[in-house]
Amino acid sequence: MACVKIQPMEAPLIDPFLRHIEYVRLSVTDRCDLRCSYCLPQGYSDFEEPGHWLTFDEIERVMQAFTELGVRRIRITGGEPLSRGKLPELAARLARLPGLEDLSLSTNATRLQKHAPALKQAGVTRLNVSLDSLKPERFATITGGGALQSVLDGLLAAKAAGFAPIKINTVLMKSVNDDEVGDLVRFCIEHGFTLRFIETMPIGDTGRAASAQYVDLQEVQRKLAQEFALIPTVMSGGGPARYVQVAGTDLKIGFITPISQHFCETCNRVRLTVDGQLYTCLGQDDKTDLRSLLRARVTLDELKEKIREAIGRKPERHDFATQPEKVIRFMSYTGG
Ligand code: SAM
Repeated sequence: MACVKIQPMEAPLIDPFLRHIEYVRLSVTDRCDLRCSYCLPQGYSDFEEPGHWLTFDEIERVMQAFTELGVRRIRITGGEPLSRGKLPELAARLARLPGLEDLSLSTNATRLQKHAPALKQAGVTRLNVSLDSLKPERFATITGGGALQSVLDGLLAAKAAGFAPIKINTVLMKSVNDDEVGDLVRFCIEHGFTLRFIETMPIGDTGRAASAQYVDLQEVQRKLAQEFALIPTVMSGGGPARYVQVAGTDLKIGFITPISQHFCETCNRVRLTVDGQLYTCLGQDDKTDLRSLLRARVTLDELKEKIREAIGRKPERHDFATQPEKVIRFMSYTGG
């Protein structure tokens, strides 16, 4: 009789606050072709050296460690992930990891027209696209020179490639784009996209400066309810947004409120930077250097042990409201 080797079951990743960690945000680059006002400063170019970027082999190995520890979802992000060469190849490698149930991607969509079919074929299951304005000039101002048309072309290509639902992420800022809420709702109804509004977080100088344009999303929801009939609903995906549906349409609108109503008690995620630093909280500085372990060729079990130790120190919550000056690194480095 053939001898079947049974792998011992790994204990799930549980942090000190009894949160089950099953989601990794994987930053594959800190570079971006846009300079969104709340994210990266104009002219910024102090990026990680390519020699520090985790290679595809290193990424696959560390993600294998995570999936063996029970991680079921990976979101590829950045920076702009489509600015990293051969990204569909990496996506295909990750999609094959045993145990992975959901491989998603966050993008600004400027290069999506070219890459959407290959990403779909690689096994990317869901897409989130940042879009803060439907007015070309305003879009260019917010993004430091971006072309709205390239994003719209990217969105249509993603739809044609079969991605559904596509989630649009809009950072709402007072006197910048908060007059476009209704237009964005109609745009998403027309195209069958899901829409999520996000409060600006004080991450890096840019995020802090933009926080001055804070918009209360509860107020936005109240105003929307005057124009559209909104029904509370849920959306699969394990994220922190609270959703309503516009009656008589398929549109779901999510509100992500890290400032006015934080959701740290349900946090199920950690973030890995392009240079292999594991951050267990977006709003804290605690990190673990996994790159040096990968480059020292430690065993998979040693890697897993380090990940467990890091999650054993996951902070309870961010301090964005009480200590907005705390996080000096930019969002594009940690991975949005
Ligand atoms: N380039 C990709 C994109 O545009 O989606 C992925 C990276 S981007 C940093 C991920 C998300 O972070 C975007 O939706 C962006 O709007 C959001 N973001 C960046 N800085 C932020 C801030 N200070 N507050 C809130 N959201 C922020």
